Amino acid sequence: MKKTAQRQHFGKILKKQGFKATPGRLEILSIMAKYRVPLSAEDISAKMKAPKINRATVYRTLSSLAIAGIIKQVHIHKGSEHFELNDTHHHHIVCTGCGTIEDFDDCRVDKTVRDLLTHSSFRRINSHSLELFGICKKCPATIKTVQR
Ligand SMILES: [Zn+2]
Ligand SMILES: [Zn+2]
Ligand SMILES: [Zn+2]
Repeated sequence: MKKTAQRQHFGKILKKQGFKATPGRLEILSIMAKYRVPLSAEDISAKMKAPKINRATVYRTLSSLAIAGIIKQVHIHKGSEHFELNDTHHHHIVCTGCGTIEDFDDCRVDKTVRDLLTHSSFRRINSHSLELFGICKKCPATIKTVQR
């Protein structure tokens, strides 16, 4: 998608959710579309060119966009919050040795949820998040596994 077309696309999404399509919000969404990996407020604020927005404002923007469902929070590190666009349903495999993140979209959770619902006290499950943690092939096999 061309940059202007992409901004128009995000502008529409923002307006649909009741947000003004401010340059800051559009820039944040463009950065997420460019990198397509979970990013923290710090990552995004470092990648921002114009307008340059401080980390606290980026963080507030991320939180409100996540509540609106435009982006989603991804739990890949303890102690820091990562976000990515909420467009394609997929999960992540995170290397606890070097931090490499790989996507996987062969999600079979829905089937598990259907089975689980028949045995649980829940009426329905609306969403799920699942991230896997391990050691990638580039990291030495002997590396110490850090629990995150
Ligand atoms: Zn992802
Ligand atoms: Zn690794
Ligand atoms: Zn899934």
